[in-house]
Amino acid sequence: MKRWAAFILVVFFALGGSLALAAAPVAILWPKPLEAFQGDLLEVRVDGDELLAVDGMLGKEKVYFSANVKTPFTALIGIDVEAKPATVKLLLKATVSGGQSQQREIPLRIKSKAYRQESFNVPPSFDQMSPETLAEIRREQADFARAFAVTAAERWWQLPFVRPVPQEASASSFGSRRIINGVPRAPHTGTDLSAPAGTEVVAVNHGKVVLVGNYFFAGGSVVLDHGGGLYSMYFHLSEFKVEEGALVRRGDVLALSGGTGRVTGPHLHWGMRLNNTRVDPLVLLRKFSSPTESGDVNKASVKAEK
Ligand SMILES: [Zn+2]
Repeated sequence: MKRWAAFILVVFFALGGSLALAAAPVAILWPKPLEAFQGDLLEVRVDGDELLAVDGMLGKEKVYFSANVKTPFTALIGIDVEAKPATVKLLLKATVSGGQSQQREIPLRIKSKAYRQESFNVPPSFDQMSPETLAEIRREQADFARAFAVTAAERWWQLPFVRPVPQEASASSFGSRRIINGVPRAPHTGTDLSAPAGTEVVAVNHGKVVLVGNYFFAGGSVVLDHGGGLYSMYFHLSEFKVEEGALVRRGDVLALSGGTGRVTGPHLHWGMRLNNTRVDPLVLLRKFSSPTESGDVNKASVKAEK
């Protein structure tokens, strides 16, 4: 018996030093390799008992992780409608209690999606614009760039996301592309919902109004920052009901729809932007319009909100 105890003691001291230097790594549940189409959104989760923080980078873009009440940490990732089909790496860093951190590279395969294309020809004069119009377009681009320049690091949105108007999508869908006189134009980066003029347009989630203005292409426009790199956009509006800087809740009326800007008729153009990618709003709605779809964490946060 004594010999046995002595043996344990020897082993204990022999291992002691190295064990103290390299404590057993805390088990972290990393995401499996990911796959997504151009224009998609997906949720990424990192779980573990002692997680304090999770940081993510996808290319040059920060991926904002957040945990509600308790782990897992979750983040939304967006694949731009024009992202090149390839396998990229999502770099993740998890910090656990005690300050230790672990890193992982998760492969993300971007798959191409066949969005609708239409080709037609117009007289060359179609694209001629006056210097005044060109100045207007530059102002539009600058204002939108400013709205997207700084996002709130805090995540304001919570599941579920809701529709901005009750109407369905019209023919001009997300990702469709026109080829005019043989030259491919930028793809359509939103979804057009066939709302008659005067329809109430509501916030798809909680956020801050970061742009209200009238523009050449987008017409009457409102942009919301939902935090963590997520923005929603509402174009061709006829009347604003909010001001820049206001905090809004999911379902709050932002404006009335209309047919302002460069349009052929009244409708709501609804766009979503996530960490500088342009993603399909209908994918957001399909995946994240139920408070339960995304698991316990989000269920807990929605309950706490009531
Ligand atoms: Zn549109």
